[in-house]
Amino acid sequence: MNTKEKDLKYIMHTYGRYDVALAKGKGATAYDEDGKKYIDVSSGIGVNSLGYCDEGWVKAVTEQAGTIQHMSNYFYSSQASNLAEKLCNLTGMAKVCFGNSGAEANECAIKIARKYSFDKYGEGRNEIITLKNSFHGRTVTTLSATGQDVFHNYFFPFTEGFAYAEANNLDALKNAVSDKTCAVMLEVIQGEGGVNILDKDYVQSLVKLCHDSDILVIVDEVQTGIGRTGKLFAYENYDITPDLVTVAKGLGGGLPIGLCMCADKLKDVMSPSTHGTTFGANPVVCAGANYVIDRVSAKEFLDEVNAKGEYLESKLKELEQVKSVRRMGLMVGIEIDSDAHDIAAKCVGNGLLIITAKDLLRMLPPLTITKQEIDEAISILKSTLEECK
Ligand SMILES: *Cc1c(COP(=O)(O)O)cnc(C)c1O
Repeated sequence: MNTKEKDLKYIMHTYGRYDVALAKGKGATAYDEDGKKYIDVSSGIGVNSLGYCDEGWVKAVTEQAGTIQHMSNYFYSSQASNLAEKLCNLTGMAKVCFGNSGAEANECAIKIARKYSFDKYGEGRNEIITLKNSFHGRTVTTLSATGQDVFHNYFFPFTEGFAYAEANNLDALKNAVSDKTCAVMLEVIQGEGGVNILDKDYVQSLVKLCHDSDILVIVDEVQTGIGRTGKLFAYENYDITPDLVTVAKGLGGGLPIGLCMCADKLKDVMSPSTHGTTFGANPVVCAGANYVIDRVSAKEFLDEVNAKGEYLESKLKELEQVKSVRRMGLMVGIEIDSDAHDIAAKCVGNGLLIITAKDLLRMLPPLTITKQEIDEAISILKSTLEECK
């Protein structure tokens, strides 16, 4: 059996896969098992932030794997504490809680928000408002948090205590807020929801409204964080101060990590045995993340992300079939005049790994993508769109 046949026989079918078995890569260029070349503008859904097999990242990870590969959270770890220190110094947040994925990071934020409210106000003030069209993960609770009805199926009963408000509509938020509300959770750019960039005025008013009533603001930066939007975190583009920030995807540079950062007033909410993780804060993973953070947080690196994003957008706008481009940094949604899923599948066949978000094409290229790789990607997209006209 080849890879595809084994996959179909032995792996549960929770994904409609493209017909490609990837074998190796370098930068934004990947090769399949037959040696065919692809330009990858999806980076494993924003995970391979430094591209495939970045030299410094490989060195950091392999050195740590040969030093100490795991210890339980009953012991101190320099890789984890260094990473936490860096993130706090870069953001002004006070403390970090580790996990392994975006969904876990959001679960942690939800627990902190509810415990803060429980400790201060007692039972009953536990509702979290999320936005329609949001995406917050695949656990039973984060599915509940996800503001899209299609996700609220099969797995009943879902976790209680979520309410949903239309994005970019302050009145809708005001109507959803009650004396039961303990937090509002949002992505400032809804990634899976179609690269919807929220209005700055709306986000700032939302934060003010929340903070006037001691309602916590949780920003889900799982997709938008770690340089993706040209700032270390997307919320910095909005000049706001969240109470909780969740991070995952791009942080590990390809290894699984998720974490929740909290502001000073929340730093002592979680006490021993209120939360835990076996794998979270793993030193090999944290070594990769430390390397990613050192590279990505440099101003010159982030300036490059912005410059590449502008270049990519200008090239996309030259394409006849492109109706509009939604972009911040290297987070890009492309509205086209044909079926995005069909085009994405054809692009993959033509050597461009691209993904979709709702009915848009979506690009989340490695932040290190070169101008030449962008040009190659555009050229494949252009000919694919022309084929399908
Ligand atoms: C991907 C994503 C998640 C879920 O992350 P996992 O690592 O798949 O659990 C949560 N929130 C947002 C905004 C995401 O893009």
